[in-house]
Amino acid sequence: MWRPTAYSDEDFDAFREAMDGSPIESVVIHAVYLINAASKEREIRRKSLASLKQALRVGDGIGTAGVVLHAGARKGEPYAPSVKRAGKVIHEALESSQGCPILLENTAGTNGPLGKNFDELAELIDAAGGGKRLGTCIDCCHLFAAGFDISTPQALALVMEEHDAKVGAERLVCVHVNDSKVPFGANRDHHANLGEGELGRKGLRVFLSDPRFEDLPALIETAGSDGRGPDRKEVRTAKRLRREGLKQRGKR
Ligand SMILES: [Zn+2]
Repeated sequence: MWRPTAYSDEDFDAFREAMDGSPIESVVIHAVYLINAASKEREIRRKSLASLKQALRVGDGIGTAGVVLHAGARKGEPYAPSVKRAGKVIHEALESSQGCPILLENTAGTNGPLGKNFDELAELIDAAGGGKRLGTCIDCCHLFAAGFDISTPQALALVMEEHDAKVGAERLVCVHVNDSKVPFGANRDHHANLGEGELGRKGLRVFLSDPRFEDLPALIETAGSDGRGPDRKEVRTAKRLRREGLKQRGKR
């Protein structure tokens, strides 16, 4: 929904207190999915900016690692002006807030959503001013669907070296861990429960055990066993696949 929740300073304090007493070390906000900073329609961009500003305000209030954002969708419009429009909205949102980063997520590779590869992510970051508060969130399901080979530790390392060369290693702030309902390179965004999709246990072992992701917040965005979102079972599966992946790397 566009309508923001009116959090108070007391809410933020209560959140921080609860965090301090919990085993959760990091929180990441996902921006509202209705946001389209690249839209040609002024009204959509205005709403997107307001929503993004609100997410950053909450992010500053609760001390989040960042606000993950799908940079925008072209919806048939030409690429360059779309990137320019998205960059302007993102820059303005950052200017209006204190310290919370915006993390641009790589997308699944269709021609609509911006950010399907590292060139596009780099251009978006440039268009948004290139500041330090611009980061990335790498989603393994989207990489796979966009046709990036991440099936072996070596292949994934090459992909991430491209990220580091074009976007900058220091910009990577968090990862999204999802399996894919669609095959490699299918260019569609359909998450599957961990180990039940086309990326599969093998692919997730590789992704979850990559040393460059060590200590980064990892978020699961799957339906879970009951369709109500990622649950304890999914978290356990992720931890197990990570352990198995680390073991396999150790044997090399
Ligand atoms: Zn994601």
